[in-house]
Amino acid sequence: MSTFENFGLHQNIIKAVHELGFESPTPIQSETIPHLMSSQQDIIATAQTGTGKTAAFGLPAIHLANPDNKNTQTLVLCPTRELCVQITRDLISYSKYLKGVNILAVYGGERIDSQIRALKKGAQIVVGTPGRTRDLINRKKLFVENIERVVLDEADEMLTMGFKQELDAILENTPKEKQTLLFSATMSPKIVSITRKFMKNSVEIAVARKNIGAENIKHVNYMVNAKDRYEVLKRIADLNPNIYGIVFCRTRRETKEIANKLMHDGYNADAIHGDLSQPQRDEVMGKFRRRSLQVLVATDVAARGLDVNDITHIINYSLPDDPEVYVHRSGRTGRAGKSGISIAIIHTRDMRKLREIERISGISFSKELAPSGRDICEKRLYALIDKIEKVEVNEEQIGPFLDNIYEKLNSFDRETLIKHFVSAEFNRYLSYYKNARDINISGGKNKRDSREPRERKTRSERQKSKFATIFINVGSRNKLTPNRLMGLINEAMDSKDAVIGSIDIMKKFSFFEIEDNRKNDVIKALNKETFEDVSLSVEISKEMPNKAPSKKEDFFTGRKKRKGGRDQKFRGKKGQKGKGGKNKRKNRSN
Ligand code: AMP
Repeated sequence: MSTFENFGLHQNIIKAVHELGFESPTPIQSETIPHLMSSQQDIIATAQTGTGKTAAFGLPAIHLANPDNKNTQTLVLCPTRELCVQITRDLISYSKYLKGVNILAVYGGERIDSQIRALKKGAQIVVGTPGRTRDLINRKKLFVENIERVVLDEADEMLTMGFKQELDAILENTPKEKQTLLFSATMSPKIVSITRKFMKNSVEIAVARKNIGAENIKHVNYMVNAKDRYEVLKRIADLNPNIYGIVFCRTRRETKEIANKLMHDGYNADAIHGDLSQPQRDEVMGKFRRRSLQVLVATDVAARGLDVNDITHIINYSLPDDPEVYVHRSGRTGRAGKSGISIAIIHTRDMRKLREIERISGISFSKELAPSGRDICEKRLYALIDKIEKVEVNEEQIGPFLDNIYEKLNSFDRETLIKHFVSAEFNRYLSYYKNARDINISGGKNKRDSREPRERKTRSERQKSKFATIFINVGSRNKLTPNRLMGLINEAMDSKDAVIGSIDIMKKFSFFEIEDNRKNDVIKALNKETFEDVSLSVEISKEMPNKAPSKKEDFFTGRKKRKGGRDQKFRGKKGQKGKGGKNKRKNRSN
């Protein structure tokens, strides 16, 4: 079995890696690290997120970095700013015991001057998104003419997102003799064409996808208003009287609050969080392990080290920021061949996080309706009847009391007797849920997969409901394409799930639609960017150019026209439609 020690990595790197809890290398690391430590040959690796590929290229890149030379030696290119920040964070943690190795993230949507200042100080490893990296190269602030290696991480995503031209331009600037490492989840023909153009005599490595989301776990999300999250939690517990689960909260305060409410409402629950002393924690853990506690409300940190089998439910009262944490939480159920359910109680704003979890882990959430009062009453009632049917009757023990009981109930016929029994046991639920509201929100009416495409609306409906039209001062003459525009938007924003509507690429400028609630973010972010050496100017436009503008209005913004205003040649000319431009789309594929 390979070990990190066998690879010949610097002791201080091994120390950092062990501190992170990496005991042995993952398959991609076992294949890649020894190769990079001893050979200049290019690598094409089919590997997905979750396989440990960051350390696979990162550890050798750090080991091989020359701390006495401040020039950039390794360039890592990746599709999104989140990934860029994540890779940089990982590399910094691997190198924390090494002096003089600087790692820098450069990505769009942030001020370029602070990145330029950081570059001036020198960074042996630069991790960048394609647009910003190219921009910095063009401005002669980032020098890649002498780099030793380039890593193309999630190469398929970079191409899907329209960064082909940026990649070509960046790679053209790099030396011929460098080592190129390409990581991609898939090997599409487009990837193959990149490998043909920029790589030679490569070693091919393929590793199987790490099974991070266990297959016997069902992942469900309920979408409700934030104020109804506790109500959903109660309904889950009421629907599942034999629940043995963990409710994950974000903060100690939330943990305490939820556990207190549950206890107050009569549930068998308790909390575990950082404010408890060790003996108190042990006591709660002990109760939970012995199953004398059914619901444990916990923070991620406090639940660490809790190793219990047979957990039926993991409930994400709040979703974590890090998708890996979700995978870790949900992995506490569905163990030892048992099935389990992991529920995310979410609000519409959490959709981004949910998508990110799906993307990173390969998990697929099914969007379901939070249980209704009727669902709960029905299930509990039938469970009670089932119990009555199956209960073991101990004649000897109850025998002495029966005569009196028969006599008391003598006047009841069969139906009345059943009604009385059931009501005695069940009135609490029936009255609590009698007028229970439907707490599901938007899109929750249909039981459908969360990734199913939504109903298509016409452009005017979309504009009326939730799309804003944005003007941008670059067009086909600046080599803008719908794909590149999507890449630009994605790179500039701190998320990649904004829904983009129609795109109209004109000669000197373009329009695109974006969800109304993201318009300010996109304008702010894009106004900091340049594209093909043009400083972007982005603003809200009144509507897409599919109608002739009124004579008095500026075609772009709907404002009154100024003399000597913008080019008017296009007036009335129908915008060139982007590929599939009328469909709502996301600025990257799932
Ligand atoms: P990556 O595919 O690089 O995004 O890595 C996925 C996750 O695996 C990250 O949380 C890493 O910290 C973790 N990881 C990477 N290598 C190892 C290893 N050898 N042992 C344990 N965890 C690892």
